[in-house]
Amino acid sequence: MSEVLLDPVAVARGLRRVAGEIAEHGGVRDLALIGIRRGGEPLAERLTALLRELEGEAPPTGSIDITLYRDDAATALPNPKIGPSRIPFEVRGKRVVLVDDVLYTGRTIRAALDAVLDYGRPRRIELCVLVDRGGRELPIHPDYTVRRVELGPGQRIEVAQKDDGTWATIEES
Ligand code: 5GP
Ligand code: MG
Repeated sequence: MSEVLLDPVAVARGLRRVAGEIAEHGGVRDLALIGIRRGGEPLAERLTALLRELEGEAPPTGSIDITLYRDDAATALPNPKIGPSRIPFEVRGKRVVLVDDVLYTGRTIRAALDAVLDYGRPRRIELCVLVDRGGRELPIHPDYTVRRVELGPGQRIEVAQKDDGTWATIEES
């Protein structure tokens, strides 16, 4: 059983809205986007391109790798491990938007915050996700969300990168 949550048109529209919200919330001056590999990286790049269209200027973009110790996709073990990062800009004083595909327990974002703060002290860190699937285990909430859905037990989101845009389905596991 598989149910389409976001088709390519809905993803494109949602990312355009979110890029507008990011711009509205402080412009692109001193803004930087950091995608969480691998799902968040192409989304951060897409948002960067949309911000360039909207504001005439693209924010610098980087990525970080958070490797979860997981038995399977649905069970997070206590501490995600931080892998290699590519942050080719100064984070000190910047407004940093972390970008990921799916937000679940919040443990990946907690680890990502640690990783970013190792580079310096941003002015502010915000969070943008394609899908917030609920189930948080930490006090972490997204500032920008394309879609929010409450998943039942045994369900997960499948995110596929297509040529014409990312899309997401709900899968029974
Ligand atoms: P968390 O650390 O919040 O529990 O899980 C978020 C991370 O695990 C994200 O980087 C995301 O890629 C992955 N993840 C968690 N749940 C799902 C899901 O249902 N589908 C997909 N595709 N990834 C998920
Ligand atoms: Mg991920």
